[in-house]
Amino acid sequence: MTSPRLVIAMDGPAGSGKSSVAKEVARRRGYGYLDTGAVYRALAWHVLARAADTADENAVMQASDDFHWTISLDPDAFWVRVGDTDVTADIREPRVSDAVSGVARVPAVRTAVNEAFRALAATVDTPGIVIEGRDITTVVAPDAPVRVLLTAAPDVRAARRSGELTNVDAAAVAAALHRRDASDSQVVDFLVAAPGVAVVDSTELDLEQAVQAVLALLPPLSEPVEETS
Ligand code: C5P
Repeated sequence: MTSPRLVIAMDGPAGSGKSSVAKEVARRRGYGYLDTGAVYRALAWHVLARAADTADENAVMQASDDFHWTISLDPDAFWVRVGDTDVTADIREPRVSDAVSGVARVPAVRTAVNEAFRALAATVDTPGIVIEGRDITTVVAPDAPVRVLLTAAPDVRAARRSGELTNVDAAAVAAALHRRDASDSQVVDFLVAAPGVAVVDSTELDLEQAVQAVLALLPPLSEPVEETS
C-alpha cells in the first residue's frame, strides 16, 4: 500500500462551492474525493435515528460507539452508508443540517473521525486525494502540499444553497446556514485562512472558474512514463 502522491486539503463554509469544486478537481485529475462533512452528517443521521439528542454530548458519544460508516472516495459515484443503510440522500435533509453542528462539536468524535480520514487518505489507490471540510487545512492534513480555503460572500452562499434545495423558502435557508456557520465557527475557524493556505474567493466565479483557480495551485501532472521494449 502506498501513500497518495498528492493530498489537496480544501476548507470552506457551506455554499462556498467547496463540494462541487473539490469533486470536479478530483475528477479532472483522476484523484479520490473525501467529503468529511458527509461523515459528520451521517453521524447526525445516526444519532437522530436512535431518537437521541444531538445537542447532548453524552448521547452523541454513546451513539458514536456503534456508528459504523463507509464512504465512497469516487467523485463519480458518491455514497455514504451507516451500517447497511444508504444515507446519501437523507443526510442532506434540513433536519440533519440543523443537527450536525451539535455532533461535530464533540472533541472525542472529531479525534476519532480525523484518524479515520487520515487512514482513508493513506490507503486510497489513486495518485492523489482531495479532502474537503472545515479543518482539513489546519487539523486533518496541515502538512498537505496544497491547502486551499474556498470562500464566498454570505449572501451568495445562502443563494447558492437555497438554489440546491427544493420546497424551501430562501430566507429560512439563509437563516439556517448562518446559524450553522456561527455554531461551526466556534469549533474550528474556517472563515480565515491559516498561514500558508491559499484563498480562492468564489463570490464572482462560476464553477469552471473556481475549478480552474484551484487547479492552478496544483503541481502539473507528470508526463506519462514511456515504456521501453
Ligand atoms: O460540508 P458540510 O456542510 O456538509 O458539513 C456538514 C457539517 O459537518 C458542518 O456544518 C460542520 O458542523 C461539520 N464539519 C466539521 N468538520 C469538517 C467537516 C464538516 O465540523 N471537517
